[in-house]
Amino acid sequence: MADHHEGTLLAERPARQAARVLRNFVDGRFVDGGKPFDIYDPATGRVHAIAYEADCAIVDAAVAAARKAVDGAWGQMPLARRRALLIRVAERIEERFDDFLEAEIADTGKPLELAHHLDIPRGAANFRVFADTIANLSTETFEMDTPDGGKALNYAVRKPLGVVGVISPWNLPLLLMTWKVAPAMACGNAVIVKPSEETPSTTTLLGEVMKEVGIPDGAFNVVHGFGPNSAGELLTSHPGVRAITFTGETRTGAAIMKSAASTIKALSFELGGKNAAIVFADADIDAAIAGLARAVFLNTGQVCLAPERIYVERPVFDRFVAGMKAKAEALKPGLPNDPGVNFGPLISAEHRDKVLDYYRLAVDEGATVVTGGGVPALIGETANGYFVEPTLWIGLAHDARVCREEIFGPVAAIIAFDSEDEAVRMANDNEYGLASSIWTTNLSRAHRVGKAMEVGISWVNCWFLRDLRTPFGGSKMSGVGREGGEHSINFYSEPTNICIKL
Ligand code: NAD
Repeated sequence: MADHHEGTLLAERPARQAARVLRNFVDGRFVDGGKPFDIYDPATGRVHAIAYEADCAIVDAAVAAARKAVDGAWGQMPLARRRALLIRVAERIEERFDDFLEAEIADTGKPLELAHHLDIPRGAANFRVFADTIANLSTETFEMDTPDGGKALNYAVRKPLGVVGVISPWNLPLLLMTWKVAPAMACGNAVIVKPSEETPSTTTLLGEVMKEVGIPDGAFNVVHGFGPNSAGELLTSHPGVRAITFTGETRTGAAIMKSAASTIKALSFELGGKNAAIVFADADIDAAIAGLARAVFLNTGQVCLAPERIYVERPVFDRFVAGMKAKAEALKPGLPNDPGVNFGPLISAEHRDKVLDYYRLAVDEGATVVTGGGVPALIGETANGYFVEPTLWIGLAHDARVCREEIFGPVAAIIAFDSEDEAVRMANDNEYGLASSIWTTNLSRAHRVGKAMEVGISWVNCWFLRDLRTPFGGSKMSGVGREGGEHSINFYSEPTNICIKL
């Protein structure tokens, strides 16, 4: 693998040469210690980095450093200076764009083009957006009558929560991690990030960036490792951590809730989904095919917002299925940097096995496989990569297991419907409620069905179109709370109401 972090803070190389070394970042420096574990390149199946699992002492040191930063240099910093530093973080990510790109691709195997236009730019944008948001929010003021005929004035001030634990997933590593780190830091909190054990590289690089631009020591810390009985659980149970912001699987959210209960931490959860799309016969069908093929297959289906159930009105069903099949079959798997490659591997061998189990289960449950259903025949470097074929099913019952459970792969079941009511009912008949995508040219229906979806994000004639000021999050088993714009600020800060008798 490329080795071009030589000379940087990550440059120490152990005996297992050629692998990037990812140490824990505590109190403004990379610290020794912890147990090494391998990080795999999913496109080739080869180890490309070694990370060090943080132990109890390292997590304790991170919490102490973070507390010191909140009480001192970071928490007390004038807002204008804090904002300027966060904007410098965004600029420095852009200056080191190629380093971030290379690290994200090595961890995920995703096509270069995707990381280039989505993951890395959004990583930088998150810092700019929340540097702006924090400057433009007011708090409420109420003047009240008092029993003695006088007045009192109430006003609220926002304060940071303190030490915030950020636990992030592997599918959009830099993007989803900075989506939490940026608003948390904008509010004056110090953060301890526990990136996914599959994708720790860009979070580690962000530690370098924080140091380079002069973020005070302890305001941003990174601890590596796993969930249960590891760095993740050490954070969620730590009495010095005031809040946990988490993106990942629903059952992990449940485990974190239990672990955080005894210390009453504030929790923000972005969890799993089993998202529905609805295509009405009055839709622009070519646009629906283009939009939903992108939605199902982007990032090899490893996007929490991706639709895995597509309900299509019967008169346009065959045309829609044929269009989606053609799009799926035009995807080209391969190495991230190879020309024309637009389809990457799944994140791990374990996740590939899970997705392939669902591919088999679908057939058992009566699916007709329109395309895909297996592993592509690849040769050369990618032969041991974690690739699966883009896959479409028809003929499944709406309540089949593969239509109810989150698969998190490049796959969708396409199901016919005959009326708007039936489509809405089937779309909502699921324990998850993250996102939906509706395709219609009927304006009234767009508003009506858009609102009827039991989700946090309801798109019409589009998918994954994001204005970062808007509320983002899940209903039902897909999450707790909302992020985005002032919703993030409301989570990462706490108002104190000051009541003054006049
Ligand atoms: P995951 O839940 O397996 O892991 C996420 C993070 O939690 C990792 O850092 C992991 O180490 C940590 N973790 C696991 N168990 C833990 C525990 N007991 N205590 C503390 N930390 C623990 O999720 P994943 O496989 O990395 O990501 C895929 C999942 O994330 C999918 O379900 C997807 O839908 C969801 N997701 C949701 C959103 C959203 O915005 N709603 C966005 C992206 C991904």
